[in-house]
Amino acid sequence: MNHRQLFLQHVGQTSTAPLCLNIVKAKGSRMWDADGKAFIDLIAGISVCNIGHGHPAVIEAIQQQAEAYLHIMVYGEFVENPQVHYAQFLTQHLPQHLNAVFFTASGSEATEGAMKLAKRYTGRHQMISFKQSYHGSTQGALSVMGSEYWQQAFRPLLPGITQLTYNDIEALDCINEQTACVIAETVQAEVGVNLPQTAWLQALRKKCDETGALLIFDEIQCGFGRNGTLWAFEQFGIAPDILLLGKALGGGMPLGAFVSDKKIMDSLTNNPVLGHINTFGGHPVSCAAGLAAMKALLNENIIDAVSSKEHLFLSLLKHPKIVKVNSCGLMIAVHFDSFETNKKIIDALIDCGVFTDWFLFASHALRIAPPLNIADADIVFACAKIIEVLDLV
Ligand code: PMP
Repeated sequence: MNHRQLFLQHVGQTSTAPLCLNIVKAKGSRMWDADGKAFIDLIAGISVCNIGHGHPAVIEAIQQQAEAYLHIMVYGEFVENPQVHYAQFLTQHLPQHLNAVFFTASGSEATEGAMKLAKRYTGRHQMISFKQSYHGSTQGALSVMGSEYWQQAFRPLLPGITQLTYNDIEALDCINEQTACVIAETVQAEVGVNLPQTAWLQALRKKCDETGALLIFDEIQCGFGRNGTLWAFEQFGIAPDILLLGKALGGGMPLGAFVSDKKIMDSLTNNPVLGHINTFGGHPVSCAAGLAAMKALLNENIIDAVSSKEHLFLSLLKHPKIVKVNSCGLMIAVHFDSFETNKKIIDALIDCGVFTDWFLFASHALRIAPPLNIADADIVFACAKIIEVLDLV
């Protein structure tokens, strides 16, 4: 059996049509397969590699930490310097009330932990989420996912969850004194990039303040500069009570986190104690890598160029077959008339060395979420290929 067959046989499968690229090396915005074929990466591991693949500062931090120690104890018992340094650095770059970081092993676990924290802090159990939102694949996160298609086969899920329409101001009346939390992606990704209206987001903040419901923003996909500011919520003049982080948080290593005020976070330490525990949350190598990546993101002023790179994409992505382009920074969705058209385009692009895919709730839309420091020449090349392919399909 070749590698592809072994992969299909022995590695648990989740997709009916896995892409099956066999990538053996990745650097910056390029990946190479086993035959030496190069690809421009327009996905960045779904918004993970925001500073590109294999950044030297991240590799060095990983090597140094690996030499010092790997796993030494479950989360929250030992003073592990990589966690402490990263938590301190993160909170220095967040509003004052987001000052306590609980590290997890994944984005989904950050969602789980935040939902538990909201229940525990408010003493309430009802939750509000939004249609077409994605917060992870575990059962709690699945319960607040905004899609019946992905939920129905796994019911019963958590009770007491109501789903509202994103950007619907009147629907916010459903938030009341029984609501433990409202969870929203600051910018919805998987629907093909859906921006919040500022007035709606501010009304949501106000309603949560009035009712005592905690506001959770999921920036697992949109954080770390993806939307053109370090945190997406900065663009709307409000901040959440709990912030969810993941993906780019670990600089390419597995890491998630939920961040809140210490006075909220401390409710996980009693009645019962150990209100949320894990073995691998805040793995020291992941924290060292994440801190190095975040420092590089800021020191190299990578976020400053996001808006101009977004506009370069937008100026080049003009073609009669494109129905519309939604974007927020380098989170871009190119909408076509159908999944069939989109799939043909994606396959043809992969053939000519440009790697992209579609969105969970918008299979007709092409995903463009490259490393934030992708070279302008690569953007020009990739867009020329997209237009070339559009002329052919
Ligand atoms: N929230 C959002 C917005 C996400 O995009 C994702 C991952 N696609 C998650 C949560 C879950 O993160 P993970 O896959 O690390 O569990």
